[in-house]
Amino acid sequence: MPEQCPECGAILPDGRTCQEIFDIFITLKYLGEDYIHVHFLLVSCFMIQHRRYSYEALVQVLAMLRAYLERPMTVQQLRQLASQNMNGHHRTWKIKASEDAPPVPKLAWHITIIDIAQNSQEGQDTEQYCTLVKEWARRTVEQISAFYP
Ligand SMILES: [Zn+2]
Repeated sequence: MPEQCPECGAILPDGRTCQEIFDIFITLKYLGEDYIHVHFLLVSCFMIQHRRYSYEALVQVLAMLRAYLERPMTVQQLRQLASQNMNGHHRTWKIKASEDAPPVPKLAWHITIIDIAQNSQEGQDTEQYCTLVKEWARRTVEQISAFYP
């Protein structure tokens, strides 16, 4: 029986975990602008699907994701947005959810990080990877919006 990720429900190929793949993906931003562009989407989707955000962080991130998906932003704008919203100095709430109360329900996600890895040669196919991450974000926001309209 193939193993399943206890957090996002993805079927895990050959004993790897979503976290391992995420750890590889977050280093891709050093490879170029295309990867930087979807970096925010990557981190947000991973955190949402793995139920890592606190309620306050989730609400903020969802607002940013929706804004991004409506009107793709430049890297500069994204950085600005992120620093406005996530800047530690102005932030009084926690980013990480407490163990007992993750605000994201367990969902059967249409797209998981495993799908991205398997269909983009582990992120090496830049074009495919970026397209998939954007689609991942779109579907994730769509699914979570049933709970956070
Ligand atoms: Zn997972």
